[in-house]
Amino acid sequence: MASELSKYVRVVIDQETCISCGACIEVCPYDALEFDENMKSRLMWEKCKDDFSCIEVCPVNCIYKVPESPQIYKDKPGWYRITRVLDPEEQKAFEEWKRKYNVGADPVSIG
Ligand code: SF4
Ligand code: SF4
Repeated sequence: MASELSKYVRVVIDQETCISCGACIEVCPYDALEFDENMKSRLMWEKCKDDFSCIEVCPVNCIYKVPESPQIYKDKPGWYRITRVLDPEEQKAFEEWKRKYNVGADPVSIG
């Protein structure tokens, strides 16, 4: 059976444009966003469940649905991480997601 994690498209954050307001982190119902060490919003990949409320509240419009994101943001390192060790099905879902949406950046850390 395919992992539940294979269902979601998720979001990309253009961290250079992010002004660290925290609105997206506040609104995310799944706690899938956090500030990184530079106070830029960062996605926790396996937690995102696509309700996209973060996109609506961002005052500088720097959050994109992954399929709609300019390639340049998908390729930049830093905008997402994975917070736990994925099981093999989940790992497969992650690799398929990366390939399907042509995400060039690797996660900041795994585990
Ligand atoms: S799309 Fe929804 S679940 Fe994903 S990070 Fe944004 S608010 Fe959170
Ligand atoms: S809402 Fe936009 S500007 Fe504010 S922290 Fe999130 S990504 Fe950055």
